[in-house]
Amino acid sequence: MRFGAHVSSSGGISNAVDRAVAIGCESLQVFTHNPRTWKPINHTDEQVALFREKAAAAGLGPLVSHGLYLMNLGAPDRDVPTGPPGKPATSTRNIHRSSIESLRQHLEIGERLGLAGIVLHVGSSKGSTEDEAIARIGAGIAEALGAVPGACAVYLENTAGAGDTIGRTFEQLRRVYDAVGEPERLGFCLDTQHLFASGYPVHEEGGIDRVVDEFDRVVGIDRLRCLHLNDSMTEFGSNRDRHENLGDGRIGEDGMRRILGCPALQGLPVVLEVPGLDGNGPDAENMERARRFQREGLALRGIG
Ligand SMILES: [Zn+2]
Ligand SMILES: [Zn+2]
Repeated sequence: MRFGAHVSSSGGISNAVDRAVAIGCESLQVFTHNPRTWKPINHTDEQVALFREKAAAAGLGPLVSHGLYLMNLGAPDRDVPTGPPGKPATSTRNIHRSSIESLRQHLEIGERLGLAGIVLHVGSSKGSTEDEAIARIGAGIAEALGAVPGACAVYLENTAGAGDTIGRTFEQLRRVYDAVGEPERLGFCLDTQHLFASGYPVHEEGGIDRVVDEFDRVVGIDRLRCLHLNDSMTEFGSNRDRHENLGDGRIGEDGMRRILGCPALQGLPVVLEVPGLDGNGPDAENMERARRFQREGLALRGIG
């Protein structure tokens, strides 16, 4: 496993590497966009070069980004009223088209930074049928990938299963994969908190192994490129997306040992998206816990 964390890129994207190294990361995840606005950040060539140099010098990798939260490729392909959150609409926007354009921008900056992939929430159906939304999502991803040749991939992340989000089951992930059509640059990211919240029993004895087997049967383990490692503030099957520090939540220490000792997951980058002990995001303590739970989990299985 290549343990990493979601780190802030404030003050320049190359600062993300310093923050990752400071807490003991071997891989990292960043936002290349401000996740709450459509307007892209203008990353200077100097910052991009520094990011690459520092990451190479520190031996960090794989490097991934997380797509901005506004993106929803499943939204209907038409203008809808939009405005600041909680305020009356001030303009209109085609969320589907904006999401394709934003994904294209994410892929472009991903190529410049040498990222392996962009972790993307699949989307939600927003009043249309699931079939229609999946068709739009597949076509949207294919369009963005087609517009940016290169190696940077899209990693679809499973969801906690709230509302009409798509990606709470492996069957839905498989249907999106099929809808993209040209899946060479399409992979998956499984988030342990989202699995737990959507009713996959990753915390139980033998649970993670059954869940991974099911993922393999439905989607294909060779398509799994990244793990998001988070404990859960909310209970099993709650369908709520609430991350907790490793070992402190409902998955708990035993659950973490079971997950991290799973042989089929050992080759993956493992990205922490935890709140942190002081509330400032992933920290050295959580990174240490991850490595300790992995060691103990492997020992429990008589490996390592
Ligand atoms: Zn996510
Ligand atoms: Zn996640």
